[in-house]
Amino acid sequence: MKSDRSTELWEQANRILVGGVNSPVRAFKGVGGRPFFAASGRGALVIDADGNELIDYVLSWGPLVLGHAHPRVVDAVQRAVAGGASFGIPTEAEIRLAERIAHHVPSIEKVRLVNSGTEATMSAIRLARGVTGRDLVVKVEGCYHGHVDSLLVKAGSGLTTLGAPTSPGIPAAHAQCTLTIPFNDLDAARTVFDARGGDIACIILEPVAGNMGVIPPEPGYLEGLRELTRQHESLLIFDEVMSGFRVSMGGAQERYGVTPDLTTLGKVIGGGLPVGAYGGPASLMDHLSPLGAVYQAGTLSGNPLATAAGLATLDALAEPGVFEAIEQALTTLGQGLGAIAREAGIPVFQTQVGSMGCLFFHEGPVRNYADATASDTARYARFFHGMLERGVYFAPSQFEACFTGSAHTDDVIGRTLDVARATFAELLAAD
Ligand SMILES: *Cc1c(COP(=O)(O)O)cnc(C)c1O
Repeated sequence: MKSDRSTELWEQANRILVGGVNSPVRAFKGVGGRPFFAASGRGALVIDADGNELIDYVLSWGPLVLGHAHPRVVDAVQRAVAGGASFGIPTEAEIRLAERIAHHVPSIEKVRLVNSGTEATMSAIRLARGVTGRDLVVKVEGCYHGHVDSLLVKAGSGLTTLGAPTSPGIPAAHAQCTLTIPFNDLDAARTVFDARGGDIACIILEPVAGNMGVIPPEPGYLEGLRELTRQHESLLIFDEVMSGFRVSMGGAQERYGVTPDLTTLGKVIGGGLPVGAYGGPASLMDHLSPLGAVYQAGTLSGNPLATAAGLATLDALAEPGVFEAIEQALTTLGQGLGAIAREAGIPVFQTQVGSMGCLFFHEGPVRNYADATASDTARYARFFHGMLERGVYFAPSQFEACFTGSAHTDDVIGRTLDVARATFAELLAAD
């Protein structure tokens, strides 16, 4: 794989951008080495600055469910920009995107569009606090909700003790508004609600965890949280920024039949442009300004380019068979990878829900953050580099999801599995 140009750009980037990147995970710290620079994308392929064509299972961390530069998305954005990039006054496309979201996602009656997933979770939490008049937030260990102050928090010394910041710059007072519990552990949730229920505004979680690798909820877990939050009159927030339009068209809430109070979205609903959204029943959403007292605003919220890309994406995805084919592509890939790993005698634990999945280098089971972080990350790094060197780009961290899109045809999956055979043979030799 040629890399002269990416090497040159990496040196330039490090002189002017912090760590060479604008978002930390792009620096490949989880696998070592340095990133390639993307020059363009086409379908399932990303083409780097040296002209290497890489099969892409990261897809901009999930949004590109139709692959790169899908003609319908390109056309929609080109038409939108030719008519003016932003107005800061209502446009029809905002209504249409919000309608599409509400149509697919069961719990959503009204929508507020924002510019990122982080903004969506931050705002949903403010709304939950505003509506309940309570300050505490319960967060689930290993779930990621963007870089919101009160959510960059790890567990304190005991279950019902308040949290500690995971980053400098977060006031202790913010962290102390957050209680952290393990994923898939209903007893832990009961313990915190029994102790502090009257002070808890909401619990926020990824209903299918996707930021500690992919971990599905165990049967009864989401239902249990629903019941518990009802008992204590706290709100249940599903962060479906990743799982929305990935685990089913209506997200995890549709797939598992559990209805949250508030839902946050992002990634797929922007089709590759910066969008986030949050929504719920009118009785909650109407507490937002300008109808209600909870303030939240955005100069570029509902931006015409972003809404055009999002609408084109959701409409293409909703056509018969499209969603199912994307899910099937990941199933075929997973079965192939599993067989190759077994043949090589390398223990892996595989998860998949819809078109998000993970190959843990771990004997399993992986049901929470502690399990996930016991994976063999050094072996994952060797797997990652072996695949990349042969033209297949998986996420540069054991703890990120693998995504397929509508351009991941049988041929693309077949080529990936050929590369995986060579890579696993090499892994075995390295051990
Ligand atoms: C990506 C992600 C976010 C943050 O979204 P940004 O657009 O990066 O701010 C929040 N929650 C979940 C579940 C995510 O996967």
